[in-house]
Amino acid sequence: MTDDTLKCSRCGFCCHYWLNGKFKRCKHLVRLKNGNTLCRVYKTRLGKVIDYNPITKKNITCNPRLSIMFNYKGCPFNNPLWEDFKDETKLTEATD
Ligand code: SF4
Ligand code: SF4
Repeated sequence: MTDDTLKCSRCGFCCHYWLNGKFKRCKHLVRLKNGNTLCRVYKTRLGKVIDYNPITKKNITCNPRLSIMFNYKGCPFNNPLWEDFKDETKLTEATD
C-alpha cells in the first residue's frame, strides 16, 4: 500500500538511467530554472518507450517509481528494502 500523502519533490533522479556506459537523462525530462524538473509527457508517461538498448535489444520504458527499486536522496518513495542509488552526483553530467 502506498501513502497518498507522499509528494514527489521533482528532483528528477528517477528519470535517469545507464546506457552504453553513459548516464542518461530521459529525453522527456525538463529541468527548470529553480532546479526542479518536470516530465513533458507526464499524463501518458507510463510504458512510454524512452530509449533502446542495443545490447539487450530491448526498449527502455518509463516505469512507475515504485517499480524502480533504488533509494534516491530525499525521495519520499524510498523503501528500506531497496539499495541506495550511488550515482546521484552524476546527474549534472548526464547526457540527453
Ligand atoms: S526520485 Fe522521488 S522525489 Fe525525485 S523525481 Fe523521482 S519520485 Fe520524485
Ligand atoms: S517519461 Fe518517465 S522517465 Fe521520462 S521524464 Fe517522464 S516520468 Fe521521467
